[in-house]
Amino acid sequence: MTSPVWHPFTQHGLNEPIPHVVRAEGALLHLADGSTLIDGISSWWVTTHGHCHPRIAAAIAQQAGQLDQLIFAGYTHEPAETVARGLIEIAPYAPGCDPLAHVFFSDSGSTAVEVALKMALGYWHNLALDGLAEARSRILVLEHGYHGDTIGTMSVGERGVYNAAWAPLLFDVCTVPFPAPGREQACLDALEAACRDKPAAFIVEPLLLGAGGMLLYPPPVLREMAAICRRHDVLFIADEVMTGWGRTGTLFACEQAGVVPDIMAVAKGITGGAIPLAATLATARIFEAHRSSDRARLFYHSSSYTANAIACAAAVANLAIWREEDVRGRIAALTDGIATRLAELAAHPAFAHPRQLGTIAAIDIVTADAGYLSDLAPRLRAFFLRHGLLLRPLGNTIYLMPPYCIDTEQLDCVFAALVAAGDHFS
Ligand code: PLP
Repeated sequence: MTSPVWHPFTQHGLNEPIPHVVRAEGALLHLADGSTLIDGISSWWVTTHGHCHPRIAAAIAQQAGQLDQLIFAGYTHEPAETVARGLIEIAPYAPGCDPLAHVFFSDSGSTAVEVALKMALGYWHNLALDGLAEARSRILVLEHGYHGDTIGTMSVGERGVYNAAWAPLLFDVCTVPFPAPGREQACLDALEAACRDKPAAFIVEPLLLGAGGMLLYPPPVLREMAAICRRHDVLFIADEVMTGWGRTGTLFACEQAGVVPDIMAVAKGITGGAIPLAATLATARIFEAHRSSDRARLFYHSSSYTANAIACAAAVANLAIWREEDVRGRIAALTDGIATRLAELAAHPAFAHPRQLGTIAAIDIVTADAGYLSDLAPRLRAFFLRHGLLLRPLGNTIYLMPPYCIDTEQLDCVFAALVAAGDHFS
């Protein structure tokens, strides 16, 4: 029977079988045909502690029976208050920097970034209403960035075949070159020059550009980017949607550079990956610019499910897991486990450019048909599926982002499948 479901980022024309998953626990997915898959990318980078963590599942069940959903415009509930306080407590902090002090909830990484962009422009708009600054609207972005698939987030992301159809809807931005090794200073100089034109904000994925190819740049460059923005009073937006929740080794990637952004977007692992929720954190000056009895200045953004109580309860449980369990120990062990195996894999002639930051690892398969439009990625995906592994390569880049609970035997299976792919595709 043909399914009426239209899947995201899925090439239906290939007529490949779509695995039907019936159950999951930890790093394992159980399929309808009785087989299992190791979830090598935490189901799109979200299930940080593994699937169906009992504490998160219990929190969801309890909340669903108590208060499920509440209009959040002018009403509140305890789970949202607890998450907001918890996020402020753990947000990147550095002496002398304005702390992140306010939390705006939404429901996906894309909306968290949209909200960040709206906050940045709203800030300058409201300052201009008071005659305190010129209105600013231009956004600076980093080359190869990815921030989501809504119109605003596509506008601040890399342009290509994946958003060409909507080019007429996207707004213009100013792109700063990616700080590839040897090009760090060129990137910083370009950022400084662009900042002189008084843009509203600069948005970056800190330390690691994910969907753009798992590209790394070092903490001193991130630190200098933030310093340049500060010198020119350009708002610094950190998109920690992928890098947050321990993925890069620290809770948030900004910590590694001692950077406190003016606005920070978080999502994915905020509920341990069990249920959609996102948040945009902002400093007091951004909030204060919107706090007014004048209706022209309030922050005009909402969605029906803003701060859904069940999702917030899951996030409360996630925060408790971070506080009470040895998540950092698991991350450190996984980081070491990946490093050893990645070094071995790098010796395989089929692979090049091994790279790792915390629990995120990537390596490129050496092949002539490496372009985005080649069918290499779907063929690799199908190969891994046959080897009991859920991976979703980006072109010729194979990356891992497993749940922190993956065990050594499962990690061995993952790397055995990578070796097999190297043998098969080279
Ligand atoms: N920002 C970054 C850095 C991401 O990696 C993603 C998704 O992968 C997003 C934003 C969009 O998040 P979502 O898919 O939850 O809308």
